Amino acid sequence: MNKPEKKKVIVVGAGISGLSTAYYARNHDLDVTVLEASDRVGGRILNLEVDGDVVDAGAQFFHSNYKNIIQLLKDLGLYHRKVPITLTIQISRDDGTSFVTEGVFGIMRNLGLKGCLSLSLFFLRYVLLGKRFSLFTIEKHIEDYDNCTAADRLQGFDQRFIDFVARPVALAECMTTLEESNFYQFLNCFRLAASSTHFTLPGGMEEIVHELANQLNVRCNSPVKSLLTERGKVVGVELESGEKLPADHVVLTTTLDKTASIVPPEFREIRSFLGEFPHTQNPLIFFHLDCRLTDDIACYMSPPSADADFIMAIDHSNKVPTMVPGGNSIISAWSAYPMGDSLIDLPDDELIERAVADLEQYLPSFKHNIKKSSVTRHRWAVARYAPGTHSKIIDFKNRVNSIQGLSIVSNDLDGVHLETAVTSAREAAQRLATSR
Ligand SMILES: Cc1cc2nc3c(=O)[nH]c(=O)nc-3n(C[C@H](O)[C@H](O)[C@H](O)COP(=O)(O)OP(=O)(O)OC[C@H]3O[C@@H](n4cnc5c(N)ncnc54)[C@H](O)[C@@H]3O)c2cc1C
Repeated sequence: MNKPEKKKVIVVGAGISGLSTAYYARNHDLDVTVLEASDRVGGRILNLEVDGDVVDAGAQFFHSNYKNIIQLLKDLGLYHRKVPITLTIQISRDDGTSFVTEGVFGIMRNLGLKGCLSLSLFFLRYVLLGKRFSLFTIEKHIEDYDNCTAADRLQGFDQRFIDFVARPVALAECMTTLEESNFYQFLNCFRLAASSTHFTLPGGMEEIVHELANQLNVRCNSPVKSLLTERGKVVGVELESGEKLPADHVVLTTTLDKTASIVPPEFREIRSFLGEFPHTQNPLIFFHLDCRLTDDIACYMSPPSADADFIMAIDHSNKVPTMVPGGNSIISAWSAYPMGDSLIDLPDDELIERAVADLEQYLPSFKHNIKKSSVTRHRWAVARYAPGTHSKIIDFKNRVNSIQGLSIVSNDLDGVHLETAVTSAREAAQRLATSR
């Protein structure tokens, strides 16, 4: 008897969501092809290499509680090579002074009595006794966490707790301000930051995507234009080149704005939900210096009231020293929503000039040591969860699951962390395998 043909699956996008979906689906014995628009794999995981030094110009690290990613790294034979990251942070105060700390609890020495009480109270009320939810899947509606901003919920807490704990967590983990994210997202990021350490791989975050891609059938330079449908069922894709590829199932893993443009007009509600999804834009400015600024500080936070668009800087030579064998500092300058939106289309020269002026407020005297500068633009950096977004996501997921032949696997619909991409990919592959 002939063997039944394997189910044909097309995965659109070769970021971590697409590659891990393809990896799990292939392990379920499905026939998988990944179509990638650009000439490289990795999407928002990307390296920047200059003169033998390598820095991460997208995702910066894995957290120690990324369970599915850790298992994936073990399966790929990469986990034993992990490189722990010690994040020593210098936080500036408005009076021009600063302090150096590690982690949410290291900060307590610098908060004063009222600040420490606020941190303890917050931890007790919202971490130990707070409502439970998954850090890596958006599946539970908690109205009073979803429907207010983080800033509103933090009213009444001590200002030092807000300035030196809450604000840095929102900026660094969610790429947004307390005023612009819902409390659900902030609490998610706070719980993650308070319960994990960081690590990476010796060659940076790109190692995981290259290892996955080596094992899979990936076609780069193959932008998908649209889904092909028959009587409401998805039956394949059409490429920008006009080529049509049939499939039993299509998995879209592109950023939500791109996904909206691939979904045909007959799925109008899905298109408009995805097309309007809030997100942050982030131009990253890199400065290669001719000296090492310090031997330990990996991250600098601006003073709370600074008049600055670039509010955080990373020194990559201290974040992962082995990736920067040259030994000189490589500084990246970071903005967040809403500032990133007004910066993203500025010319490189202007962005570089603005970043130098902003960083000089909390990282003085580095500008005379700049050897080279460059800009990496993330037009869709991470999803942003404004008040009300979580309930809309849960409704949306129920609707999209009813379309035959289509899955949407997205980091952006489950939180802003890499683990959410892999968790969502693993579940989608499982569903695909069992729905044969
Ligand atoms: C600056 C930055 C720092 C971050 N830091 C961290 C961190 O430290 N830790 C963490 O956990 N997360 C971090 N994140 C988030 C994390 O990097 C992303 O959430 C994750 O990489 C997204 O993966 P993805 O596969 O879902 O999407 P993407 O990586 O965006 O992949 C989508 C892919 O689809 C392709 N594509 C687009 N259109 C088409 C088309 N029409 N046809 C075919 N292909 C198409 C794109 O070219 C891309 O390769 C960071 C993100 C940014 C931007």
